[in-house]
Amino acid sequence: MSELHKTKYEFKAETKKLLDILVHSLYTSREIFLRELISNASDALDKLRFESNRGTEIADNDLPLEIRIDFDEKKNIITISDTGIGMTRDEMILNIGTIAKSGSEEFLKQLAENKDAANNIIGKFGIGFYSVFMVAKEVIIKSKSFRKDEPAVEWRSDGLGDYEIAELDEKIKRGTTIEIYLKDDAKEFADKYRLEGIIKRHSNFISFPIYLKNEKINTIPAIWREPKSSIKKEQYVEFYKFLTYDNEEPLEIIHTSVDAPIQFNALLFIPKKSYEFWRWSKDDYGLDLYVRRVLIQHQNKDLLPEYLSFVKGVVDSEDLPLNISRETLQENIIFTKIANSVTSNVLSHLQKVAKESPERYADFWKEHGRIFKLGYMDFQNADKYQQLLRFNSSACKDEKELISLEDYLSRMKKDQKEIYFAFGANREAIDLNPHLEIFKSKGIEVLYLYDPVDELVVTSIRKYKDYEFKSVDTVDLKSLEKFEDVSESKEKFESLSKDDEKHFDSLLDKMKKILGDRVKEVRQSKRLKESPSCLVNSDDSITSTMRKILKMSNNEVKIPNQEFILEINKDHKLIRNLIEIFKKNSNDDFIKDTTEQLYESALLLEGNLDDPHKLVNRLNKMLTEASELYKKKIE
Ligand code: ADP
Ligand code: MG
Repeated sequence: MSELHKTKYEFKAETKKLLDILVHSLYTSREIFLRELISNASDALDKLRFESNRGTEIADNDLPLEIRIDFDEKKNIITISDTGIGMTRDEMILNIGTIAKSGSEEFLKQLAENKDAANNIIGKFGIGFYSVFMVAKEVIIKSKSFRKDEPAVEWRSDGLGDYEIAELDEKIKRGTTIEIYLKDDAKEFADKYRLEGIIKRHSNFISFPIYLKNEKINTIPAIWREPKSSIKKEQYVEFYKFLTYDNEEPLEIIHTSVDAPIQFNALLFIPKKSYEFWRWSKDDYGLDLYVRRVLIQHQNKDLLPEYLSFVKGVVDSEDLPLNISRETLQENIIFTKIANSVTSNVLSHLQKVAKESPERYADFWKEHGRIFKLGYMDFQNADKYQQLLRFNSSACKDEKELISLEDYLSRMKKDQKEIYFAFGANREAIDLNPHLEIFKSKGIEVLYLYDPVDELVVTSIRKYKDYEFKSVDTVDLKSLEKFEDVSESKEKFESLSKDDEKHFDSLLDKMKKILGDRVKEVRQSKRLKESPSCLVNSDDSITSTMRKILKMSNNEVKIPNQEFILEINKDHKLIRNLIEIFKKNSNDDFIKDTTEQLYESALLLEGNLDDPHKLVNRLNKMLTEASELYKKKIE
């Protein structure tokens, strides 16, 4: 090593911590170090090709783009060289000496949650290089940047506390060579069959040739460009695992090849499990874009809309120019057409699955439905999107069952003009919602929404076919009158005498006086069957849940105060008793307490009761009175 500009640097604290873990506790499948180094070499070659395509001047321009691996089984050394972009001294300090803090922190966090996953995810956190210290007691990197005037540099470290960088005096060509001095317990890796096996297992799809002692090892290039019929399922799965680091097989494989009007191949996958858990950064999604087998952009975000971001894979086109810049892609009309076509392909595939194997579609929905729902803004594909939506409903036997909007239409009443929905924390909660009673008694199906996003979806798309979505708490009761009752209420009540009707009306007036400005009106209910009362929104333009969402999301917007109407069910035992009490003494405290209690209970059910103290106090008082009566009854 030249003494010229030789400098010693200390690893940062988090790097040391990471190295310590890599070296001491991740013994299983140490072989992945090779996958990580080959992947870095391949990235460096991709970057070089990209620079070359856009006309940058490049050192040693005649070098073939390739990766070479060599070993010495006597000295226990492995070397990996590439003719890629190389590194300058500064780049070495920046890229190899320091690791992205966020990456290492996130890696350590996920490692604590699931240790077995380490080998699969390490490459995702920008710390792949360090895995070499699982097998190396010393590593030397020699690199020459593609920039013509940059001197070659050397980096060396034992992976413990520090590293050294110096200028190289020997002349080397463009690219990077990594010399690995194996630890005593890692000598097994300096072996032809061992290395060949590892390369085949993890790096078979690298698009540059990999030579092991001058013999080309990787043989399966760009399978997305091969005819479908020539590819076996295992090859797809192998490629998927290579691409995603996923251990499991994909749920769906979508391989398309389009010739006209624009040529492109796409090989796409839907993972079995939602990737959300593995996504350590917001940007960790997108498809790899190739032009004539050359990688133009890793994780392109514009080929698919974000609500389909669970889709992984590659798209390759003959019709895009090789020197296209990433910045202008979005404005390129051919690119836009490809993107539209890819999106529509994915949606069509999902439609096919939904039709042909509903169970598989349900699996898909369970994992990816939450993201998929966000597609309510995709007006271009609105039809397909809406057909792919799934909901739980009053017609389902349990919370797990799913229906489509088409299923709902098929069960609609004759002359029904709206699709009804209710929002709640879970199935039991919605079942108990008083607003649903009239729908139950008329046998009208109601969609059950549990996720705030669901309500955003139905209020944003507004209708399905000609049928408008309508919340059960804003429904116009007149529109339900025409439907006949299908179920009898449990308790039959005689109708009130003319006199008692009058008393009932005065009772309602009394209740309004008690509640004052807190309610807009107290009136007889036509919707209730089982409950004594409920609160109704006086403004049907905005549902209670939407109001809550608005309040939470943006306090700048002025949301008009909610005005409630209290509805009273005349045919309920409690109200019948109240009429009798009212007749004896219209100022009885019991009427006041009951009115307050009904009002606050209804607020509570709506999730709008700010302070439960009064309600609980009153309840205790009334329970005490009830217990006195009960005691007398059983004496
Ligand atoms: P990642 O590959 O996710 O960025 P790594 O730890 O594997 O994280 O590599 C860190 C960085 O070191 C790379 O991003 C790259 O800038 C640089 N690097 C590693 N290997 C090479 C190489 N063979 N040629 C050029 N640069 C490299
Ligand atoms: Mg890497």
